[in-house]
Amino acid sequence: MRRLLMGIIVIGLIGTTSCMQEQEVQGVETPEPVVHAGPKMPKNIIFMIGDGMGLTQISAALIAQRDALNLERCAVIGLIKTNSGDNLITDSAAGATAFSTGQKTYNGAIGVDMDTLPLTTILEIAEQSGLATGLVATSSITHATPASFISHQKSRMMDEEIAMDFLKTDIDVFIGGGKKFFERRTDNKNLLDQLKSNGYTVATGLEEINAVSTGKLAGFIADEQPRKVTEGRGQALAESAMKAIELLSMNEKGFFIMVEGSQIDWGGHANDSEYIISEMEDFDYTVGKVLDFAEANRETLVIITADHETGGYGIVGGDIEAGTVETRFLTAFHTATMVPVFAYGPGAEAFAGTYHNTAIFNKMMASLELNAN
Ligand code: MG
Ligand code: ZN
Repeated sequence: MRRLLMGIIVIGLIGTTSCMQEQEVQGVETPEPVVHAGPKMPKNIIFMIGDGMGLTQISAALIAQRDALNLERCAVIGLIKTNSGDNLITDSAAGATAFSTGQKTYNGAIGVDMDTLPLTTILEIAEQSGLATGLVATSSITHATPASFISHQKSRMMDEEIAMDFLKTDIDVFIGGGKKFFERRTDNKNLLDQLKSNGYTVATGLEEINAVSTGKLAGFIADEQPRKVTEGRGQALAESAMKAIELLSMNEKGFFIMVEGSQIDWGGHANDSEYIISEMEDFDYTVGKVLDFAEANRETLVIITADHETGGYGIVGGDIEAGTVETRFLTAFHTATMVPVFAYGPGAEAFAGTYHNTAIFNKMMASLELNAN
C-alpha cells in the first residue's frame, strides 16, 4: 500500500514538471518541487550556506513571503548534526571547515584540524582537478565561512593572514567585503597589486563587478563588512552570485562555488527578527536565481544548508495573510539544533537523510567524482 502511494506521488510530480519550470514564485502560490530529469552526475556544484539559518529562520521568511519560498523548489531534503570537534555548539569556522574538509575541528579553526594542521579543502581539490572555483559572501571574504574553503589559519580572527591565503590557491572568482584586509595592511603589502599581477581583474562595487565579462575576478562590495540588505546593499548577493556563476561556467570541466548569505546569523546574534527575515528573503531570492540557472543548465547540483542555527529563534504567533510573525529568542549565540539541507539537480538524492555536517564534504566529493590527493 505504501509503495503504491509512493508510485502515485512520483508520477504526479513528473507529470507536472514541465509547467512548474515556468512558474514564477509570487503571491500565495507554493511551487511544487521539480523532479530533475537530466544526467546522473553533476558537472558543477553550487553550494549555498545560509549562516545561522535554522528551520525557524526559514519559517519566518516563509510567513513573511505569504507561504512561498524558492527553497521549496528543492525536492530532496536532509538534516545535519552540527556539533564541532570541541563543542556541542559549533561556530561558523568549525561549521564551514566541516563542509569544506570533512573533518570536525575546534571552534574558531579555519581549514585546520584539532591540532591546527592544514586540511585540504574541496575548493582546493576542485581547483587542482581543473574545475573553476569561486566564493561569494555578504560578509568580508576573509570572514569565517568563506575563509574556511581557501585558508588555513588557527584562528578566524586572523583576517590579514586569511587574505594572504587567497593568493595561494588559484581561485577564479571571489566577491565579498573585506577590501581593506588586502589593501591597507599592517605589513604594508598591497595584495591587490599581487592579485592584478596574478591575472585578476580587481573590481570595487557592483557596477565594476558586473562589467567584468571574462577571466579571473577579485570583487569587493565593501571595505570591511557589507551593509545590511535593509540599509542599501541592494541585490549584491544575487548579482555577485550570478556574475560569478557566469564567469565560472566558461570552464568546460565544470565548477565549484560556495555562496553565503552571511548576515542571517548576524540578525540572530542581534535577536532582531526583521534583520533575520530581510536577510533570509535576500538569500532566498538568490536561491531562486541559482535554481533558475540550474534548471536551464541541467548539469548543476545545488545544495543549500546552514552551518548552525542562531538565536534559539522561535515563532509564537503571527498571521500568514498579513505576513507577520511574533518571535522569541533563547540566546544571543548559536544553538545545537539540527539544520536542514535542500538539494536540487543531478546527484541531489544523496543528500536525503540525517547525517553529520562532515558528510556534506564526502557527498559533494563523490558527486563531482573528486579524489583527495
Ligand atoms: Mg558566515
Ligand atoms: Zn554566528
